[in-house]
Amino acid sequence: MKERPSFPARLDTTLAKNRPHPSGTVMPLAPRGQAGPLTGAAKTVAPKSGVSSVPVPQGLGMDSLAVRQRMVQKLAGQGVTDPLVLSAMGSIERHRFVDSGLVNQAYEDTSLPIGLGQTISKPGVVSRMIELLRNGATGPMGRVLEIGTGCGYQAAVLSRVATEVYSIERLKGLHDKARDNLRPLRLPNVHLLFGDGMAGYPKGGPYAGIISAAGGDALPQAWIDQLAVGGRLVAPVVHAGGQALLVVDKTAQGLRQSILEAVHFVPLKSGVA
Ligand code: SAH
Repeated sequence: MKERPSFPARLDTTLAKNRPHPSGTVMPLAPRGQAGPLTGAAKTVAPKSGVSSVPVPQGLGMDSLAVRQRMVQKLAGQGVTDPLVLSAMGSIERHRFVDSGLVNQAYEDTSLPIGLGQTISKPGVVSRMIELLRNGATGPMGRVLEIGTGCGYQAAVLSRVATEVYSIERLKGLHDKARDNLRPLRLPNVHLLFGDGMAGYPKGGPYAGIISAAGGDALPQAWIDQLAVGGRLVAPVVHAGGQALLVVDKTAQGLRQSILEAVHFVPLKSGVA
């Protein structure tokens, strides 16, 4: 396995150039009980035996659009303004990506377990990071590399805001789960890859955007190399005893980086399992 390359620039000196997140430095969990009509309301139907697929939640079928629209209103209230991001968050059914026992929490602003010790990120963090990644693009942005497919939710959201999405996962069990979750959505621009995302995926690059759902001590050099000039990388990194969002812009003059708010992501690990 390759050694983890170190990031060429220091992380501790740069002040945020992007607007601060309106929730301050730490993004709080939504208080329990603010889930709206979903709490306790949604029932699930057990999947037919032999069918590994997505549970069909009753009460989240026809009216899940309304529930998502309420979620989108909250995201807008938290400061997300990119119309393409908001409409993507409104169209992708997050409840299809979580286990049947968790569907009634699917539209709360909370991370949820997806198996193998990993989590699906909070909608607030997904939308915030994708908005940063798009950097004000008006239409769909170009090719995007996602590190950490997990259950595939963020890849599905990305498919609505970018021309092509390459998403890598190092855990076979989750790579397979994402494939199962995404199959019914038929998203021809999403390419799922099984492997160590620390090496990136040079064949799909150069990328207009690289987004990581796992945080390491340093950014792999491969990510910087595979970023297009004019492209942007958004990733959690270890910073000041915790984790913070790092934004790196690759310009013709070199790299420009900003450290933004504190976040809490699963660790970036090397190798596959
Ligand atoms: N975007 C995902 C979030 C999954 S959590 C979703 O929407 O569900 C982050 C994921 O990153 C985990 O599944 C973890 O296994 C994966 N991960 C960690 N290090 C990785 C690496 N080096 N390469 C690829 N995936 C990695």
